[in-house]
Amino acid sequence: MEILAIGRSLFDLFFPMRCLNCDSVISQENPLCVFCATDLPFTHWNLDKNNLAYYKLKLLCKLNSAHSLLFFRHENVTQKLLHNLKYENHPEIGILLAEKTTQDLDLSHFDGIIPVPIHAKKRKKRGYNQIVPYAKSLSEKFEIPLIEDFLVRIENNPSQVFKNRESRLTSIQNAFSLTEKELEGHYILMDDVLTTGATLSICINLIHSKYPEMKLSVMTIACGV
Ligand SMILES: [Zn+2]
Repeated sequence: MEILAIGRSLFDLFFPMRCLNCDSVISQENPLCVFCATDLPFTHWNLDKNNLAYYKLKLLCKLNSAHSLLFFRHENVTQKLLHNLKYENHPEIGILLAEKTTQDLDLSHFDGIIPVPIHAKKRKKRGYNQIVPYAKSLSEKFEIPLIEDFLVRIENNPSQVFKNRESRLTSIQNAFSLTEKELEGHYILMDDVLTTGATLSICINLIHSKYPEMKLSVMTIACGV
């Protein structure tokens, strides 16, 4: 036991865990230090029609309600968390943020969660779809299905980050497809970040082209401001 403890201390000495936001040394297996974890830019929105996420999407598609957990700004803590979740193999960030989400929202009345899919090549490279750890935690917490075999990504586009809304819409118009699986009810479409709303609105319009009566709400970890 003592040897293990000494080994751990030496490991910490040479490879200390660091807060993803402020780089201070941390001891526990939390991606953020206590100060940054308590200072996250929460939106404090409800899952309804009275927020920026809903306003961003309502002119592009038909949706029932929307929610984002955090505000996303250039180089803020949210951007760092999402970068690490997406590109640096930190799925635990999604699980941690799901725990924060369940403090304010009850999703048990929904019929399931549909994660916005990424292309198989990207999933292989990253190891997972970045929204799935978050979506899976919420589906387990509220005992509603996580549906990964309904909406699929069939085209692999280069990064969308620097494109404006019109060019993004054009480039991803045909990137998604629906499988033969049939659904009815009220579902949550879930993605990591809502910026222009291009990806989410294309998915919603595609689903409504086949299921015009289906109710869809949107949840994202972050909303750009
Ligand atoms: Zn910190």
